[in-house]
Amino acid sequence: LGRSLTDAMKKMAGMAVIDKKAVKEIVKDIQRALIQGDVNIKLVFELSKKIEDRALNEKPDKGVTASKHVITIVYEEMVNLVGKEAHPLEITGKPYKIMFLGLQGSGKTTTIGKLARYLQKKGFNPAIVSTDTWRPAAYEQLKQLTEELHISLYGDPENKDAVDLAKKGLEKFKNQKIIIFDTAGRHKDEQDLFDEMKELSSVVNPNEAILVIDGTIGQQAHDQAKAFAKTTDVGSIIVTKLDGSAKGGGALSTVAEIGAPIKFIGTGEKIDNFEVFDPSRFISRLLGMGDIQTLIEKAEEAVDEDVAEETMKHMMSGKFTIKDMENQFQMMGKMGPMKQIMNMIPGLGGKLPKEASKMTEDKINQYKIIISSMKEEEKLNPKIIKHSRIHRIAKGSGRKPEEVKDLLKYYKGTKKAMKGLGKRGLGGGQMGRLM
Ligand code: GDP
Ligand code: MG
Repeated sequence: LGRSLTDAMKKMAGMAVIDKKAVKEIVKDIQRALIQGDVNIKLVFELSKKIEDRALNEKPDKGVTASKHVITIVYEEMVNLVGKEAHPLEITGKPYKIMFLGLQGSGKTTTIGKLARYLQKKGFNPAIVSTDTWRPAAYEQLKQLTEELHISLYGDPENKDAVDLAKKGLEKFKNQKIIIFDTAGRHKDEQDLFDEMKELSSVVNPNEAILVIDGTIGQQAHDQAKAFAKTTDVGSIIVTKLDGSAKGGGALSTVAEIGAPIKFIGTGEKIDNFEVFDPSRFISRLLGMGDIQTLIEKAEEAVDEDVAEETMKHMMSGKFTIKDMENQFQMMGKMGPMKQIMNMIPGLGGKLPKEASKMTEDKINQYKIIISSMKEEEKLNPKIIKHSRIHRIAKGSGRKPEEVKDLLKYYKGTKKAMKGLGKRGLGGGQMGRLM
């Protein structure tokens, strides 16, 4: 999956102009990746529409390749969705009351332990109140956690009134800097659960309500988030269980649905398996790509070896066409200027056709644009490019006819020089490898 997206990027690598077909292909790959990553379908289509529109309508900055332009747009649009930078907690007001919300099993209690540990490391000493009267041994689970951390806990396994527990906990810890409230994730039925959260929220009046979403649940995350968001003003999200193969796409839908940022992620059952949310890493994971930044570079590095071989053979045999030259330009994008490439070939340094040594990146890009307006038959048989074709190509590429002629001159010069190289017995394979 990740590979197909990378392949699509590779195909685009080196293209001087944005190719509509290539963009559509990439957008399709992204859609596939997102859907498999459990992102809500509606969201996937909104996102891909935006990406496609921008990729086709926005001009890349000078010197930016088409592939880099497109992947940057993809990245920006996805980051926009989850928030540009990590938002750590800002502890303001005393006591700062944090209320956890989430279905049973989502990882609330475990995450409260992790967050408490995180806050301890920052120099805070949070207290915890247990209000989960539904899960068997919910209090004991917290008791064990807080004893290990030497953190104060209030709870009463005999008391089955969550709201009463919250009130008593508030009173007991009113002089603490931070109080974290654990809540139930299950009730007589769902509506009772949401009613209880509503009531608890009005009593606790949290500074921050954190919704815990199991990163493995996918599409249901969306509906859960919506229901919880009705009970209180959800200020942030923590996504758990991202240590497995889950991509967390459900969480992305959650963010889009309720507009609260992801602040932390859980990456395991242990207390230290807890990280500040990093949008870039999350998105790379979701798209099934390694690191999206290095992907841009990789896409540009990718040189099709078969094409390189073919091109070199043509170059040496004198059958060099504009099609070959186009391939050569695409490969050169990554190799550096022609002069540098030639210098790597033993005994050739400096003996470079005059035209070739003058090639700059700007010139290559200009040539690529001109070539993209040529017909296939013209690329393969440049001899047929005469007066009227020159004018048509110039018009199509928005260049002057003189510039098209200049390109043709460069082509002829290179062809001649290449033929010379072939005669001098330079092995095609040698240069092929260099390319
Ligand atoms: P709660 O019902 O929402 O309080 O959920 P718990 O905190 O009791 O967690 C439910 C289960 O999920 C437990 O077995 C936890 O160990 C596990 N769990 C929680 N967070 C993570 C995580 O980030 N990764 C993994 N692998 N398991 C987790
Ligand atoms: Mg719990």
